[in-house]
Amino acid sequence: NQPILEVRNLQKHFNLGGGKILKAVDDLNFSIDRGETFGLVGESGCGKSTAGRTIIRLYEATAGEVLFNGENVHELRGRKLQEFRRHMQMVFQDPYASLNPRMTVGNIIAEGIDIHNLYSSTQRKERVYELLRDVGLNEEHASRFPHEFSGGQRQRIGIARALAIEPQFIIADEPISALDVSVQAQVVNLFKKLQKDRGLTYLFIAHDLAMVKHISDRIGVMYLGKLVEVATSQALYAKPLHPYTVSLLSAIPIPDPEIERTRERIILEGEIPSPLNPPSGCPFRTRCPKVMPQCAESMPPFIEVEPKHYVACHLYN
Ligand code: SF4
Ligand code: MG
Repeated sequence: NQPILEVRNLQKHFNLGGGKILKAVDDLNFSIDRGETFGLVGESGCGKSTAGRTIIRLYEATAGEVLFNGENVHELRGRKLQEFRRHMQMVFQDPYASLNPRMTVGNIIAEGIDIHNLYSSTQRKERVYELLRDVGLNEEHASRFPHEFSGGQRQRIGIARALAIEPQFIIADEPISALDVSVQAQVVNLFKKLQKDRGLTYLFIAHDLAMVKHISDRIGVMYLGKLVEVATSQALYAKPLHPYTVSLLSAIPIPDPEIERTRERIILEGEIPSPLNPPSGCPFRTRCPKVMPQCAESMPPFIEVEPKHYVACHLYN
């Protein structure tokens, strides 16, 4: 069974001039199966959004491959590229900034339909109503403007827009980070329901592990442009291997006060180093509680230490 998405040695570097190269994404390797949700997690600036934007080809890759249904996305031209643009859609972090304030909600949702010229005008209208209902809004909302809606409702509009042309794959870039905590679970549940009804595949980007817990089948943890651990959600929460993942998990409060009181919380010292000037060897070594001399000397390889559980750390090498 071919994965719907394969990312191989993907790099996205930005040349900032004056000899400065920002290695925002540096050698990513992972794949996603059809119908699966892959959570991509890391602190801000770790390259996760850049990875998403390079996968969907909003950015050209510096090196490496993105295979979608077996075809290299960065080599697609003409009709093939247009087809790809239909099959992969993006939901953005900020539902305030990503919706054009001068367009009605109906026209926002139908943008993709109009670009790809998919329906007659009667069908178009029906389709917009159907999409509004599917995301928990209603027909009357079609003639309104984005400012009339709450954050959660705006994100529902963003989701309806992404769904309009029936994509197979959605990249959701921190879709719940800007929302109130009380609304976050509702939007996650909507994503889950839509996935079940439509067989969608998700790349779900978030800045902490609590946000992806209830939606991801597998999770990848990024640090300074690199994946440091990939595992099933179950394995990652039960038995995290990379010291960075361990620290991220220890920061999530546990509802049980008994466990919460006795639990060790790992506070990472220092800031994330600048990706313009990453440390030698392991990128995490300047903050790692388990750092050893060899960590400065070589970059730990990304290896499968247990079935489907990958980690880049000299402790397991
Ligand atoms: Fe820590 Fe060394 Fe493992 Fe890096 S390789 S995470 S510095 S123990
Ligand atoms: Mg981001």
